[in-house]
Amino acid sequence: MSISRRQLLKKTAAAAGTAAIAGQSTSTSGQAPAVVTARRFRAWVTRGFGSDRTTLQELTLRPISGRQIVVRTEATNLCYSNVPFVLSLQAPAAAGGRADGPPGGPPAGGAAAGGRGAPPQRGTIQGHGGVGIVEAVGPQVRRVQVGDRVCVSGTPQCGSCYQCLRGRADMCQYLSDNNLAVIAEMTDGTPVVANSHIGGLAELMVTNEEWVVPIFTKASAADLGMACSCVAVAGLGATTSPTLAPVQSASTAAVVGCGPLGLSAVIGAKLAGASTIIAIDPIRVRRELALKLGATHALDPNTAGLDVVARVRELTRFPTDRFQSGGRNSGGLLGGAGADFVIEAVGADAVPPKMEAGPDPTGILPMRQAYEMTAPGGHVITTSLPRGNITLPGVLFSIGGRTHHAGQAGGSQPMRDIPRYVAMLDAGQFNARALATTVVRLDDMLPAYEQVAYRTTVTAIMTP
Ligand SMILES: [Zn+2]
Ligand SMILES: [Zn+2]
Repeated sequence: MSISRRQLLKKTAAAAGTAAIAGQSTSTSGQAPAVVTARRFRAWVTRGFGSDRTTLQELTLRPISGRQIVVRTEATNLCYSNVPFVLSLQAPAAAGGRADGPPGGPPAGGAAAGGRGAPPQRGTIQGHGGVGIVEAVGPQVRRVQVGDRVCVSGTPQCGSCYQCLRGRADMCQYLSDNNLAVIAEMTDGTPVVANSHIGGLAELMVTNEEWVVPIFTKASAADLGMACSCVAVAGLGATTSPTLAPVQSASTAAVVGCGPLGLSAVIGAKLAGASTIIAIDPIRVRRELALKLGATHALDPNTAGLDVVARVRELTRFPTDRFQSGGRNSGGLLGGAGADFVIEAVGADAVPPKMEAGPDPTGILPMRQAYEMTAPGGHVITTSLPRGNITLPGVLFSIGGRTHHAGQAGGSQPMRDIPRYVAMLDAGQFNARALATTVVRLDDMLPAYEQVAYRTTVTAIMTP
């Protein structure tokens, strides 16, 4: 059969087109062709260094591919750790470099996230997580389908990296993947990335399969946004996730710092059945809220003459100190006193609060106190972002019997634990409304973030 020159040219052109599409897709997914979902949406974009560095922009979504997922945002939390980047409030000198991503991990977003020395050529959608509805999926996505309700988790869980395979998805190595994809463009063509592969302060989140957890619930957007927020996940994880040191029934617990993370830990400790829960925070309304949510005692670390560590040891005293009768005494390096479980959730001040300030703006002193108020044989789980280095008594650290757990996400394993937290919300066990003291729409995001920064609200949820 003969082929005309015209037919041959047509065939060649078609083949060239196929090659171009294949070439495009291999750079991102290695397999399937790109899925085109061009769409316009509004987002708060941080760009450059100026005083108005975060502005509301209309963006055009870029085509997605591979394991990418487009989620229509229903709710996102305004995390304190993003304060220096979203607002034009400079953190005090030598601030920890982790203010733009999930707690505890390496910097996400790199220079594009708005750190010192960042080139202004890219914009970044801040935030790290939220809840929403899947609008589009790349061809390799299996975990969720279009129309699913999902939590975009602050911590990924790929299921196949070294850490995920050994049961430490809280350390999933995608967490430190700084190779951010350009997901959208501003009207002037400026490329835009999402902080930590997630974003959140936008009508859409574009993320990858590893960060997404399908959830099945009819809970309201704001309640769900609170229960699935990075802070609730960390507080509930530190107290109820099996990964680190879940609080045991009838044990004694202390929670140092009663922001949204610490208050979630108070709720978790109560759910786990702790007999004594001591909440420690300088802000009176937060201590009162802790008592409503299940704390049995509340301490103000600013009270003149109060030795917080000694007071916790007193409050966790047994009815007897007779060793022969199962008792424990109250002091000494190897004494029995102290809380069985201590959850530390203070961190450094990004800006001086407009409410009662704590005793140490770096967050180091309360972290050390958290270690020291832990009983021998007990567990201390740290979850905050302090500024500087911690010094501990060497002998206490060496042979004092306290076990420290570095609590990125409180040890939560997203695919296993986030559905549990949603179940707690649905069962009325997690009081989301008590924590989400500010709920705003997209346009009112900045004033709400200022409330978070100055600690005049417990935390804020944005529902676009
Ligand atoms: Zn966060
Ligand atoms: Zn992993």
